[in-house]
Amino acid sequence: MAYPEIVIDLAKLTHNARLVCEKAAAQNIKVAGVTKACLAHEAVARAMVAGGVRELADSRLENLEHLRRLGLGVQLMLLRIPGLSRVKDTVALADTSLNSEYEVMSALGEEAKRRDKQHRVIIMVDLGDLREGVLPKEVVPLARQVSKTRGLRLRGLGVNLACYGGVTPSEENLHQLVELAENVERETGTKLEVVSGGNSSSLGMLFNQQIPPGISHLRIGEGILLGRETVARNPLPDTYQDAFVIRAEVVEVHVKPSLPRGTVGQDAFGHVPNFEDKGPMIRAIVALGRQDVPSDGIYPLDGRVQVIGASSDHLILDAGKKPGIKVGDIVKFGLNYGGLLGAMTSPFVSKRVREF
Ligand SMILES: *Cc1c(COP(=O)(O)O)cnc(C)c1O
Repeated sequence: MAYPEIVIDLAKLTHNARLVCEKAAAQNIKVAGVTKACLAHEAVARAMVAGGVRELADSRLENLEHLRRLGLGVQLMLLRIPGLSRVKDTVALADTSLNSEYEVMSALGEEAKRRDKQHRVIIMVDLGDLREGVLPKEVVPLARQVSKTRGLRLRGLGVNLACYGGVTPSEENLHQLVELAENVERETGTKLEVVSGGNSSSLGMLFNQQIPPGISHLRIGEGILLGRETVARNPLPDTYQDAFVIRAEVVEVHVKPSLPRGTVGQDAFGHVPNFEDKGPMIRAIVALGRQDVPSDGIYPLDGRVQVIGASSDHLILDAGKKPGIKVGDIVKFGLNYGGLLGAMTSPFVSKRVREF
């Protein structure tokens, strides 16, 4: 057994995917399952599909290429707006891409024509979060242009919230998106297949039945993977937060003082650390460092320990005052989104799938 390992629980993931898909379906909303936090791992993609997801989405073309090779029989969507240099791969690998630049969309259309196919685009609208998207007043003219571009099909409009500016989804901003979509339909004479109302930050509204009618699509990663909405990071009712668990090995346990001895300068990462004197404590070192997972991306599932800090290769735990933890023990940690992303993309963390 190679440690550290991340254990992927397929039954829990599938349950989360099914619950989110069912909640959405009851409100006429389709879900694209987002795999980017786990390098589009095959087991994760399969669990999403088993749970009812009919479209997979990722921000990286390399991940879409992997998903395409798996042949899962679902639609693939590129989440990160493509650059001009990636137009060929985008058309080859994605059925749909999210876009905000006509220059890029025009090139996508040319490439699609060359391949004798249609590439589907979703125009992203900036409703205040200030990441990708065009401003509302530019939507209709751009949509008109796109709908006239050969090789492209205007699939719909989308919004991304709570990512950069922290602006949360609301009935107001999602309603604005629906209204814009209605304007586009009227002005272009084409029916839009999707109005994509955001990411896991919209799940609080979904679970409270507050999503305005007309929103027909959500792009969900964290909500399925970790069972949380992302405005307050509350757990979603009846979902699992521990479909992914890290297991790592204790390699040292000693009673040591809580204050370093000697003159304190910079640590390995250029910070001057600050310490609180808690007296002598049992300190355990786990072979799990920043090259495996960020230390603020994990939380111990073992009540006897607390994370004190980490360097590139070592995680330092406060193991309390009473003997318990010993060398060779395997300690389990839960993960937040940053932890999941770090562990799944680290070559040092082995990935183990727990089958049904
Ligand atoms: C990452 C991403 C998502 C999914 O975000 P989650 O919070 O994991 O649900 C959706 N849309 C876009 C554009 C993204 O980049």
